[in-house]
Formats: sequence, structure tokens, C-alpha cells
Amino acid sequence: MSSTTRWIPNWKLLTIEIENKKIEICFDEVSKLYACPYCVPQCKKGGIPDYGSYFFNIEDLKEHIKAHRLGLWLKKEEREEEEEEEERIRAEEEEEEEE
Ligand SMILES: [Zn+2]
Repeated sequence: MSSTTRWIPNWKLLTIEIENKKIEICFDEVSKLYACPYCVPQCKKGGIPDYGSYFFNIEDLKEHIKAHRLGLWLKKEEREEEEEEEERIRAEEEEEEEE
């Protein structure tokens, strides 16, 4: 059982407008699917994505992109774990002053 489908998309870039903001999306002429540029950034380079969000209906994609934008706002409140320990630089080159 193979879950890998040999799908060779023929991406076409389309520009749509969402809330007065122009966004480039990908449309595959082979499967007639629209791809979300946030989930599937590879499509802009003509790549074959492993996974992502695809829509048959452009209106569905618009709703999906709007959700991304809301998601970005929410993410701002999330704080990344700070890992600054490795960034600590030892001032080895500094001359030690002997007292
Ligand atoms: Zn998406």
C-alpha cells in the first residue's frame, strides 16, 4: 500500500484580493485545485508538496487564508521558549586583570 500519489501539478499563479490585500495563490490546472500559499509555499516554485491545504472552491480558500491571518494574530501572544544559553559568549579574548 502506497500513499504516495504521483501527482505532477501544473501550478499557475493567481492573484486574489482578500480584505484589500493582494495575495498570490496557486492553482493547479491538472487537478483543478487551489493551494494555500501559506501551507504550500512550494507551489510557487513549481514544486510538488508533500501535504497542504487544497481547495476546489476559491471561496473556501479565501476563508482559509482569512483564518491564517487570524492565526497570526493569536500567535503573537504565544511566547517561544527562550534558549539563550548557547548564545552566551565567553569573553575569552579579554585580558584578565590581575589584582
Ligand atoms: Zn493554509
